[in-house]
Amino acid sequence: MTPPTTPTTPTTPTTPTTPTTPTTPTTPTTPTTPTTPTTPTTPTEPDHEPTQAEINDIYRQLIQNKFKLTIKYGDENGNYAPIPEYVPVKLYDENTIHQYLLVIDSVMSMYPDGFFQEMVNSGMTLNIYIVKTIGGRISGLTETWSNGYVTIMLQSDDGRYFADTMHHELMHYIDGYMKIAKHDPSAEANMNALNPAGYSYGDTNNNNYVYIGNNAATSYFMSSYGKTNFMEDRATIFSDMMTRATCPAYYTNGYPLNEKAKSIAQQIDNNFLTVNAETTEFWERCIAY
Ligand SMILES: [Zn+2]
Repeated sequence: MTPPTTPTTPTTPTTPTTPTTPTTPTTPTTPTTPTTPTTPTTPTEPDHEPTQAEINDIYRQLIQNKFKLTIKYGDENGNYAPIPEYVPVKLYDENTIHQYLLVIDSVMSMYPDGFFQEMVNSGMTLNIYIVKTIGGRISGLTETWSNGYVTIMLQSDDGRYFADTMHHELMHYIDGYMKIAKHDPSAEANMNALNPAGYSYGDTNNNNYVYIGNNAATSYFMSSYGKTNFMEDRATIFSDMMTRATCPAYYTNGYPLNEKAKSIAQQIDNNFLTVNAETTEFWERCIAY
């Protein structure tokens, strides 16, 4: 009896290479006689005044090139609706679109040069989608995909709060970048360490520990919404840091909100090449040391 032979793993058949067809020699081209240069024609006037839609598109491209993001509006984002129960209403009014392109440009100009490019270069692309309304009671949202595709949706019906909402959503983008691309998970622990002893997030239906105007020294949260989780806590504080015309009393060294602002700023210093501890960035101007 012959011992059973161990079966050999079949080798994958090699695909036969197709023979290459010989190339036919190219016939030398006869040199063309140089054409006499034509006299340049005077540029013709555009056949119409540019429409607001055309002006918006040119302006949008300018912002996109400057900050390395993509801006969409109207039907350009299909039927994007990341929260199934909310149906966004698209924005078509070109004058309104222009108004918010101006806001997006001015908001993004408040960040250091190259700041957004740094995040985009890591693979976290930024897409801003302007709609009329998102639905429900939310005024902005940020969706971060594991492949780095970040969409911030903003509603034009927010009027003068559009910029506040945009800074809020940009904080979510920055936090996503620090956690995913820079592998810095410290944001949650940083916030918990600065909350009252034993506090846990989620009690959004009351104003305990919330700044209400006369309690700067004992305020831990910018709004009850900031008590949702550590990310909303940071986004509500960061939006305040970016939008205050004058610095309120809670930005006093040692006060809880000031210390949270300090922690956010320090983490950004640590993670961005375009930001450093020596420069006072716009969001740092109210922080007291
Ligand atoms: Zn938020």
